[in-house]
Amino acid sequence: MTFITRMKMPAAFLDRDGVINYDDGYIGTRDRIRWMPNVAKAIHRLNKCGYLVFIFTNQSGVARGLFTENDVNELHAWMLEQLMRAGARIDDIRFCPHHPQGTIPKYIEDHHWRKPAPGMLHDLAERWPVKHEGSFVIGDRASDIEAGQAFGLPGFLFSGGDLDAFVADVIAQIKRP
Ligand SMILES: [Mg+2]
Repeated sequence: MTFITRMKMPAAFLDRDGVINYDDGYIGTRDRIRWMPNVAKAIHRLNKCGYLVFIFTNQSGVARGLFTENDVNELHAWMLEQLMRAGARIDDIRFCPHHPQGTIPKYIEDHHWRKPAPGMLHDLAERWPVKHEGSFVIGDRASDIEAGQAFGLPGFLFSGGDLDAFVADVIAQIKRP
């Protein structure tokens, strides 16, 4: 008899703007990325501690015609490469390009991926072997935390500063509930 085991791991679901980089509003190009202090260190810490690491981000700038989905994909590829060079592995990214008040017809929608809805979390957890217990969300807005709660995960509100110090504290809290 053969047993196929799929090793499940807890996951850290991170918002992008306001967590990975400063939220300077509708960022579609790499020249506008200002990294959060110690972001690579924080992600490396999560890697080392056995977490899958994901970014899930609303990017309504696509629906508003400020940049394209392709721009976002290119930006994300560059961000992942920069982080990887600094020893930090992001396993996957989901972004929601939709907005009910958009201007680009194909993106005008109150989509189930758009936070505070948990659609992006569901999609990531279907694609990856996510262990629910021990997983968590970090975001800078209530909608990030609400998305996590809708998916049954605790959320931690980050207000900027040293991301690695914040992540170290979150991991410590998660490990002794
Ligand atoms: Mg944010």
